[in-house]
Amino acid sequence: IQRSVQTPDNAFLRIDNVTKSFAGIPAVKNVSLDIAKGELFALLGGSGCGKTTLLRMLAGFETPTSGRILIDGRDMTGVPPYERPVNMMFQSYALFPHMTVDKNVGYGLKHEKMTDLERKDRVRQMLELVQLSELGHRKPHQLSGGQRQRVALARSLARQPKVLLLDEPLGALDKKLREHTQFEISNIQYKTGITFVVVTHDQEEAMTLATRIAVMDKGVVRQIGSATEVYEYPNCAFVAGFIGSINMFDGGIKSVNGTASVEVPQLGVTLEAREHPGLTAGEAVKVAIRPEKIHITGEAPTGGVNAVKGTVDDLAYFGKDSLYRIRLATGAVVQVNNVNVRRPADSVRVAQWEDEVWLSFESSSVVLLR
Ligand code: ATP
Repeated sequence: IQRSVQTPDNAFLRIDNVTKSFAGIPAVKNVSLDIAKGELFALLGGSGCGKTTLLRMLAGFETPTSGRILIDGRDMTGVPPYERPVNMMFQSYALFPHMTVDKNVGYGLKHEKMTDLERKDRVRQMLELVQLSELGHRKPHQLSGGQRQRVALARSLARQPKVLLLDEPLGALDKKLREHTQFEISNIQYKTGITFVVVTHDQEEAMTLATRIAVMDKGVVRQIGSATEVYEYPNCAFVAGFIGSINMFDGGIKSVNGTASVEVPQLGVTLEAREHPGLTAGEAVKVAIRPEKIHITGEAPTGGVNAVKGTVDDLAYFGKDSLYRIRLATGAVVQVNNVNVRRPADSVRVAQWEDEVWLSFESSSVVLLR
């Protein structure tokens, strides 16, 4: 509900009220966004939300229907892709199969004014950066998926762009390799200091990689913030539901006085919620509570916390944590995620099927959304 959008004072890449329509249908609507030099910025959203279109406009492959894009203070209107201080790494990597790794990395330098020696040296630096120095003579089919991804990264960095655009950079990798490569990308970004803009539909990827995230939905930016900001302080029900899992109920504000008192018929209680400036009594809101912020106990909790009683409907044990579905007398179901810390293996479950349990959570864990 609250939360101002932070804008860096030193905008290096400025998207100024940009709209893009295809045959009269807007794919990107009035997006304004400032990215600072050296940021690793993520455009996050589901399929068709317009994130790729926005990235392609930064690259110059699409022209905004209205609005402007400025890079390093220069208006990019009418500037073709190859004249922009920008490079793009595509999801498919688009490596040339008949060329060696060295040749692939050096390809983009063909038109640069450099001597052969300088070119060779740059290729060597780039392969060192992505830790593939030994594999310069191989061809793409002789590499693993993760190695191909690194060659593509080396190639797109070879011309030393001011901005690197990455379209689903980890899309082609399996889960284990993705996790590893995430760290590698942020490490390389940090070492080079180049501004990275990453498009992804994967919220975990955005949260691990990016200094800031723009969450997009239907062509619109819903929220811009750090991983913590969009997770802990979502500004709308869409962002709360898109980032991580969350319990969401309808509520009505009873009173506002420091904390807010909110009636939640689905839970059959009145909850104390985090302070949210601008709320008024009588207002209808969405009440959001993260599953891992809920404590599960056999006894009624003591002390001034929010509490509801229910029955264990379902549970799943995942080793490091367990997921419970608790059915309340009202019929509502609440998801609880319990991290299994310091519990001997024979008692990892805090409750069993059909057990009567209490759920409790701090007022600071209750997020109200419009
Ligand atoms: P995905 O993750 O599925 O790639 P996205 O968020 O990147 O999705 P975009 O590719 O930006 O989404 O597309 C946004 C909308 O614009 C979609 O409805 C898409 O069909 C439409 N669109 C994109 N490019 C074109 C085009 N060249 N012609 C017509 N419509 C287009």
